[in-house]
Amino acid sequence: MSADLRTNTVSELSRGIRARDKTSIARALNTIENRRSDAEREVAALLTVLAEDLAQGPGQAGKAALGHRIGITGPPGVGKSSLVAVLARTLREQGRTVGVVAVDPSSMRSGGALLGDRARMAFDPQDQGLFVRSLATQGVFGGLAHAAYAAVEVLAAAYDLVLIETVGVGQTETAVAHVADTVALVVQPGSGDVLQFLKAGVMEIPDLLIVNKLDQGKTASQAASDLRVALSTLHQIGAGQGDTQVLLTSARDRIGFEELAHALHDHRMQLGNEGILARRSAGRLAWAIDFVTRRIGSVGLDTLGGGAAVHAELALALAAGVSPLTAAHSLVDHLLVRRR
Ligand code: GDP
Repeated sequence: MSADLRTNTVSELSRGIRARDKTSIARALNTIENRRSDAEREVAALLTVLAEDLAQGPGQAGKAALGHRIGITGPPGVGKSSLVAVLARTLREQGRTVGVVAVDPSSMRSGGALLGDRARMAFDPQDQGLFVRSLATQGVFGGLAHAAYAAVEVLAAAYDLVLIETVGVGQTETAVAHVADTVALVVQPGSGDVLQFLKAGVMEIPDLLIVNKLDQGKTASQAASDLRVALSTLHQIGAGQGDTQVLLTSARDRIGFEELAHALHDHRMQLGNEGILARRSAGRLAWAIDFVTRRIGSVGLDTLGGGAAVHAELALALAAGVSPLTAAHSLVDHLLVRRR
């Protein structure tokens, strides 16, 4: 029990996280992964204190401290973890601090090691401006996508940029969209999957598309031009923003990373602070609705007056500054009281 929040007060922990103390950050993330039933309440308390501290703290206050949360998603094997390692290094060289969280739902099913662990070994453990961590168990949250939200909040309190690496293509990447300001989808030259998904309208159009393994030659540039054509066709029929960039990288040869860092920054600038705040508040609400729905099911929703009522209640709580996890807990508690 030594490595959990009970041994620290929540405010001490919040201070440690904001000071980028790796032990504090690791402790918070351990609690997020913990299966103890009260761990989730401890995380809720921590997130509330972190948000309060960030709003008040000198130097952290104001919109300059908004940072940037970047989701890197795509099918297994396309080179996400290799790419995240090189991107993190590029950003560090530019003087930015970086927190990385890798979320791999398939690791639960297989019980195996996380993909790309070898790539992660390339990180320098002595670097105080970089923190890398995988979320391998779903803990009390009952879903890695839910746990990822809490992990991102913790890392965002400590680092300029947070990279969220997650497996997924199609519907599953929407979970990362709830927690990321910018979503980049990594694809493999020649697979054609993404093109199919885009055409079928299965997939929400990401903010950025990355064709990795540029070193594989012609197939990579062909994949990029196919994607550009698909995006412009989709834009003509009213889908997407029309200016979605398609970038080419080679994580193996470290090509295209200055451009990638630049494109990510551009998207951040395009959104602006107001855009970021709007996107985050929509994401938080979507996250809270999803969390409550999964926890109480359709019967529970009906008992609370239906989906629209729950939606409205959560929106009110969040608008009043309550954290999504705390707001979700209040609703679930409310239901339990009613059932007694
Ligand atoms: P992930 O499953 O998407 O995280 O992919 P990984 O980063 O684990 O990479 C999967 C495989 O692709 C590994 O064997 C990598 O060495 C390889 N790989 C990653 N990036 C590149 C690249 O840019 N070029 C080439 N040729 N191979 C790459």
